[in-house]
Amino acid sequence: MIEPKYADTDVNGDDLSATERQWIRDETNRFFPEEYVKRNWKTGPGRDQWCDVLERAKRGTSLAEWLSVADDRSDRQAISVELNEQTVPNWMERISEYDLHFYQIDDQSRGIVAANTDVADAVLEAETELEGEDRDEVLGDLYGYPDCCREFYVDRVRQDDRRDPLYEIACNSDSVSPIDGDRERLLAEGVEPWANVLYRQFGWTFISHLPCSFDCERSFDVGETRGEIMADHGFRDAANHLWEWLQLPMTWTAFKALSHVRNRYFIGSASTSCYWSEKEIVWKRPHQAGGQIVDE
Ligand SMILES: [Zn+2]
Repeated sequence: MIEPKYADTDVNGDDLSATERQWIRDETNRFFPEEYVKRNWKTGPGRDQWCDVLERAKRGTSLAEWLSVADDRSDRQAISVELNEQTVPNWMERISEYDLHFYQIDDQSRGIVAANTDVADAVLEAETELEGEDRDEVLGDLYGYPDCCREFYVDRVRQDDRRDPLYEIACNSDSVSPIDGDRERLLAEGVEPWANVLYRQFGWTFISHLPCSFDCERSFDVGETRGEIMADHGFRDAANHLWEWLQLPMTWTAFKALSHVRNRYFIGSASTSCYWSEKEIVWKRPHQAGGQIVDE
C-alpha cells in the first residue's frame, strides 16, 4: 500500500503548511466541473477493430448488470435504472419474464428493479429516509458491492469527496509500486483485468462499483460472474473482447480535474477528481492466452 501524495508545495516550490494543505483539499472538494468524456481513435484500423466490439461489450455489461439481480451466482439484489417513455415497456416485459419487482420513483424518471418486494422496499426506504454513509452502506449491500470495497469507499473516498478515486484505488493495491520512488507515478503490473476500472467513464469495465484495490479478489468474482452472465445471454464474444481490451498495456494520468487514458489504439479524456500535481498509473500485464470467460 502506498500513502497517496497530494500537492505539498506552492508554485514557487516552497512547502505548504498543514493548514494550507487542508485549505486546498477543502477548496478542491467544493469544485465540481461538469461531467466530460471525449474519445479519439489513433488510427482507422484501430477504430475498426475495437469501436464496435467495445460498444457491444458495453451493451452486454449493462444487460448482465440488471440480469445479476435475477441470477443466483450474483450477490446483487437490486439495481436503480433511468426511465423514459421508451424504456418503461421494456422494463415491464423484463420484470415479468424474470419474476422481478419494480418501483418507479423520482417522478417516474427512475426505477428500482429488485429481486423481491422486501428488497424493493428496503431500497426505497434507504433512498428516501437515509443519507450519507448510512445510505451508502445499505444500498451498497443491496447492490452486491463487496464489504471491503464499501468500507474503502466510506472511509477513504466519501470523506474526502473524491469523485473519481482511481489514484487512491491504485495506492491501495498490493500489486502497485511507485515508479522511481515517486508516489504520484504508479506501476500496476500483472493485475487481472476484472477490476480494471480505468476506462469506467467510457463504459468499458466488468464491474459497476469502485473496487477497494486493483487486486480485490471479491471484485474479480463480481467481474467474472458478470462476464459469465454476458456469455450465457449471447455476449460471449463481447465479454472476451472486453477482457482483451482491459489487459492491454495502458496509461492513465490526471491533472487538475481532467484525466487522460491511452493505449496502443485509443486516447480518451474525462473529468476526474481535482489534483494540483499530476498523477499517473501505468497498467501493464504480460500478454498470455486464456483468462477470458470460456471458449466456445
Ligand atoms: Zn474490495
